[in-house]
Amino acid sequence: MTAKVLDGKALAQKLRTDIAAKVADRLHRGLPAPGLAVVLVGEHAPSRVYVRNKQKACEQVGIRSWLYELPETTSQQELLDAVDRLNADPIVNGILVQLPLPKQIHEDAIIRAVHPLKDVDAFHPENIGLLAVGMPRYLPCTPFGVHQLLVHNDIDPTGKRIVILGRSNIVGKPLALMLMQKKTIAHPTGGDATVTVAHRQTRDLADILRTADIVVAAAGSPRLVTGHMIRPGAVVVDVGTNQVEGKLVGDVDFVTVAEVASALSPVPGGVGPMTITMLLQNTLLAAQWQDAA
Ligand code: NAD
Repeated sequence: MTAKVLDGKALAQKLRTDIAAKVADRLHRGLPAPGLAVVLVGEHAPSRVYVRNKQKACEQVGIRSWLYELPETTSQQELLDAVDRLNADPIVNGILVQLPLPKQIHEDAIIRAVHPLKDVDAFHPENIGLLAVGMPRYLPCTPFGVHQLLVHNDIDPTGKRIVILGRSNIVGKPLALMLMQKKTIAHPTGGDATVTVAHRQTRDLADILRTADIVVAAAGSPRLVTGHMIRPGAVVVDVGTNQVEGKLVGDVDFVTVAEVASALSPVPGGVGPMTITMLLQNTLLAAQWQDAA
């Protein structure tokens, strides 16, 4: 079997056209364009690339974005003060503090400092809590991107056995919350699936992965998932982004998995562009929340 490729790049373009139309509609109604403040601390080279891609995507759909660059030596208090100023600025609808941060700064403290209504990454404990009880305000961008990649390819998670590889606060854990949740009017992205979360301490990983109708790999381990770990006909979504000898590779061994899976997302061109698109979606939503506030 040769898997269908889940093309995140093409889908992202389509969804961005819809977002651009909604932004244009705001302007017609005399409302301001949504605004995203991006904070970059230090000299982490991949972060600089991610931030540039996010700003380019904002520009593409008519969202205003501002980049605040702070030096590697920035103290936690200086960053907290910068976040506070953005919290108070009415033209800023969304705040994104690019992670990782230099070691003198506790990421948790910064995540908690972003106003929950401006938390377009959906990392704040209040937003995670709302997601956990089935009343999400914002959905974290990567899990939201995975969900959209599935449903727009007519892959309905309802009733499916899903194994998520990875339990981080930004990918595995919130994705598990989304996919296990009952689908309701308040939570239309509830997956109604039976979810298993695997991690570094999981025993018999291959046996567990082979039980899945859908596998989502978010371990950060290059080509960890190989064809023999996948049930024939299963769907595989690869979240991993790993640099190997100057090349971007996923957590899935594309060649062997494509032979057994029914559908598979590539790296690059799968979840990555969807993640950025969901950031745009959340920034638009943030503007709508703040219109109403
Ligand atoms: P993380 O390091 O915070 O978490 C990795 C998780 O995988 C942990 O829970 C760990 O227990 C588990 N894990 C690691 N190795 C394992 C193994 N051999 N067996 C079983 N479990 C294992 O990483 P993260 O931030 O969740 O990111 C995961 C991957 O997704 C990374 O490659 C990251 O770069 C990528 N990522 C991509 C996007 C995107 O937009 N495409 C967004 C976020 C993260």
